[in-house]
Amino acid sequence: MSVFHDEVEIEDFEYDEETETYYFPCPCGDRFAITKEDLENGEEVATCPSCSLIVRVVYDKEQFVCGETVDAPMTSEAKLEVAQT
Ligand SMILES: [Zn+2]
Repeated sequence: MSVFHDEVEIEDFEYDEETETYYFPCPCGDRFAITKEDLENGEEVATCPSCSLIVRVVYDKEQFVCGETVDAPMTSEAKLEVAQT
């Protein structure tokens, strides 16, 4: 395994909606980058295109892996709540 330059929480990354990529400043002047798709696949290494440094991204995997698909059981519960109010 490679040695990480640092560990950075996903909240500290800057998200670019157009490229769906998270960025974090690299000491070399460029930026570490990791895409949303990488995160959804469980990837946790952000790389810098200009140097060999890498950082480990600290994030809640479930938030990304299950983030976009809502399961059926939750939907029926939500309906019940609506019916009660
Ligand atoms: Zn760099």
